[in-house]
Amino acid sequence: MGIESFRISEPITFECDVLIIGSGPGGAVTACELVAHGLDVLMLEEGPASDSSQSISSAKSLQKFWRNNGLTAALGRTPVSYAEGRCVGGGSEINSAIIQRTPGNLLDQWAKDYDIQDFGGAALAPYYDKAIKAINARINSGPPNPLSQLMINGAAALNWKVSALERSDDAHGKRSMSATLLRKALTQGLRLVSECRVNKIIFKGKQAISIKATAEDVHGRKHSVIVFFKDIFIAAGAVHTPALLLRSGIKKNIGRTLRLHPTLKALAHFPQLIEAHKHVLAPHAVTEFMPDIRLGCSVFRPGFFGMSLAEDWQHRAHLEAEIDHCAIYYAMIRAQGVGRIYSIAGLRDPLVTFKLTGRDWDLLRRGLLALSQLLFAAGATEIFPSITGHSGWRRDQLITADPLIENLPANANPFTIHIFSSCPMGGDKERCATNSFGKIYDLENTYIADASLIPEAPGVNPQATIMAIAERNVQHFLKLRG
Ligand SMILES: Cc1cc2nc3c(=O)[nH]c(=O)nc-3n(C[C@H](O)[C@H](O)[C@H](O)COP(=O)(O)OP(=O)(O)OC[C@H]3O[C@@H](n4cnc5c(N)ncnc54)[C@H](O)[C@@H]3O)c2cc1C
Repeated sequence: MGIESFRISEPITFECDVLIIGSGPGGAVTACELVAHGLDVLMLEEGPASDSSQSISSAKSLQKFWRNNGLTAALGRTPVSYAEGRCVGGGSEINSAIIQRTPGNLLDQWAKDYDIQDFGGAALAPYYDKAIKAINARINSGPPNPLSQLMINGAAALNWKVSALERSDDAHGKRSMSATLLRKALTQGLRLVSECRVNKIIFKGKQAISIKATAEDVHGRKHSVIVFFKDIFIAAGAVHTPALLLRSGIKKNIGRTLRLHPTLKALAHFPQLIEAHKHVLAPHAVTEFMPDIRLGCSVFRPGFFGMSLAEDWQHRAHLEAEIDHCAIYYAMIRAQGVGRIYSIAGLRDPLVTFKLTGRDWDLLRRGLLALSQLLFAAGATEIFPSITGHSGWRRDQLITADPLIENLPANANPFTIHIFSSCPMGGDKERCATNSFGKIYDLENTYIADASLIPEAPGVNPQATIMAIAERNVQHFLKLRG
């Protein structure tokens, strides 16, 4: 079922206590807490109202709810393509709803390295609890689906560790932001405007005083929107929060430290019928090589299958009629590489760059080899890694001697769906964009509330951490406000 949002049909000026830009997990948690405390909150979202009746990766859904049809590239010697949600609920509407906590020892390490006050595994635990309860995340107690079962079989044969992951759903489907926190906040007075893109924040001294936005009406006509507010939370995601701040003249430590989880996929062919497109994502992962490498199952749709075949049509065309015997799995790494976001006058989208380090490529190589071992152990007959011009591996082939694996940076097609850390929070003013609670340094009423704040790559799915940090920071904001 969709969510009620308001569309603008003429030029308009709003006033509110708090303006939130972006309606993904960070923005939704923030809105829910603020309205529950009686504040007049307006939320502006660039994308359309989401509709959970659409399959998350159908062609129609890709066009409507994913930014740039799901394919944007971070440029570098090897580009890394990434996907983002662009709709009410942000990435939570199109994601796989796998919910994980960042390990406590890593949170403790960040507290130390970035000098983050009142932070760490123990300090964040209650905020995780609250976030996870709100979206009903739990381990499915039923039997594993066939895609999980293949991983479990492969891992058992190799004596590797495999873990069940929590998912947030219930009998009605995925517990995205539009199905949970935004819905609740709307009943408590949140005003939510969709298809309204904020272009610029206007500052006077240390205060943000207004924003200028452009809204599109149901006929596609554009209208100007101005909003005056007392406080502003920017929750436009790890790419668009820094892009908006840079466009608005705020630059210190903004957009210079983008992190992500580079991932390489492999298409596997099995002798038996798999019908991967009929299953939701496998909520299992091989955790033997964590925290650096995780192996798991990717969403499988005809479009993604076609893209994989196109990487080397000559050697993969014979699979065209074998779609029901194929599945796509991935190796994801916790990278050390860093990217940057640039706002360029005249361009609607920011320019994003990312550079994988030598260690990152070693991890991707190791991950891909481990993935192929796993899939052959699970019974695959052929494996086609996401490397342009790769003719694939057959059972019993000596994969380690493959020159294309050695020369991965030249041919591999890494991608990611996990992006963060572009405006890290912490007491270390030299490295961080915001203080320990998300307030931008040297500004008085301007906060960030999304994946941008996570100091470094968590190595696990990020949504729960985004929600837990947003919850912690908004509670701190309310406490200071009295
Ligand atoms: C395909 C896919 C699968 C994923 N699977 C998982 C998973 O299983 N588990 C998990 O933990 N994570 C997953 N993720 C990642 C997770 O969804 C994101 O980390 C999370 O949604 C980020 O939350 P956020 O609040 O930072 O921003 P987002 O969710 O990106 O929300 C930001 C919102 O701001 C809006 N916006 C941007 N700029 C403007 C502007 N100028 N004006 C107005 N609005 C603007 C955007 O349209 C967007 O809706 C997945 C992501 C994708 C793409």
